[in-house]
Amino acid sequence: GMPALPPPVLAPRRKTRKIKVGKVEVGGDAPISVQSMCTTQTTDINSTLQQIAELTASGCDIVRVACPTQEDADALPTIARKSQIPVIADIHFQPKYVFAAIDAGCAAVRVNPGNIRKFDDQVKQIAAAAKDAGVSIRIGVNAGSLDPRLLEKYGKATAEALVESAVWEASLFEEHDFHDFKISVKHNDPVVMVKAYEMLSERGDWPLHLGVTEAGPAFQGTIKSATAFGALLSKGIGDTIRVSLSAPPVEEVKVGNQILQSLNLKPRKLEIVSCPSCGRAQVDVYKLADAVSAGLEGMTVPLRVAVMGCVVNGPGEAREADLGVASGNGKGQIFVKGEVIKTVPESQIVETLIEEAMRIADEMGEP
Ligand code: SF4
Repeated sequence: GMPALPPPVLAPRRKTRKIKVGKVEVGGDAPISVQSMCTTQTTDINSTLQQIAELTASGCDIVRVACPTQEDADALPTIARKSQIPVIADIHFQPKYVFAAIDAGCAAVRVNPGNIRKFDDQVKQIAAAAKDAGVSIRIGVNAGSLDPRLLEKYGKATAEALVESAVWEASLFEEHDFHDFKISVKHNDPVVMVKAYEMLSERGDWPLHLGVTEAGPAFQGTIKSATAFGALLSKGIGDTIRVSLSAPPVEEVKVGNQILQSLNLKPRKLEIVSCPSCGRAQVDVYKLADAVSAGLEGMTVPLRVAVMGCVVNGPGEAREADLGVASGNGKGQIFVKGEVIKTVPESQIVETLIEEAMRIADEMGEP
């Protein structure tokens, strides 16, 4: 048969340098990774590892933990050793915690050399220690903690200010011949953020970590992140992403993965194609779509399941999907690969779809 073509993408990836965050490659041709950050106290090792396990199970590639105190630094070796995914220590100001995180076996450290430099010229030692240990760095420029010098120059955290800060921070490592870092330039306004990343991507081949900072509660934060990341990823900009939500971090990971899947930047897994319902619907489409989503959550094979409210567009969509239902008159026509395999009463639609999905997944080799 014909070899399957890869799904289309909106633009080729911009060429960036590849770095490693532990076992995960970031930049170059590496798949775009999804990150999140623990909300637990880092000192509470068990809760942190529990949360990391949940994040891993939900499809998180890299996790960050805060390290504001010596007690947090002391917890890092155990967390780094037991985590299933690479751990990044998030550090502001204190160089000693950067060295502690490197010694602890963290895969990477988020730290801005500009901050370290104010205390002592330890950037060179950090570059050397990170290079020795194979640890990478993220320079995390953030509108909320922009250098006062740049705030004064630009009046506020504009895209230009964020980029100038990032390029300067990068130079502090580059002058010590250290290049294993990625950069983020986060702002809570998607428009400023998009402009900043676009400008930054013109200035160098640094791998870029995308984020809209303080994006807000789940609904607003999801939309802000999806629009901003969509604008950038559709131009090939972005090597790793973190959705920030005022919601449990597992939600950030789900949203991040869904954004990448929507743009064909990550293989689609379960996809529910459901209609919005309208006056023609003869079943409760919302309920049906929710029940089918819930029943199939966690499926790891790519499966398109159509849930359609009536027989107008129903059969067409259901036929295009691997599996689907077109409802009408208190019954559901169940389609598999375009064929109506049976018609069941409304009360049996969900269980029949789930049964068939499991059977297809088996055939596709779901472990
Ligand atoms: Fe309306 Fe039928 Fe289309 Fe659903 S499939 S939106 S019920 S016309």
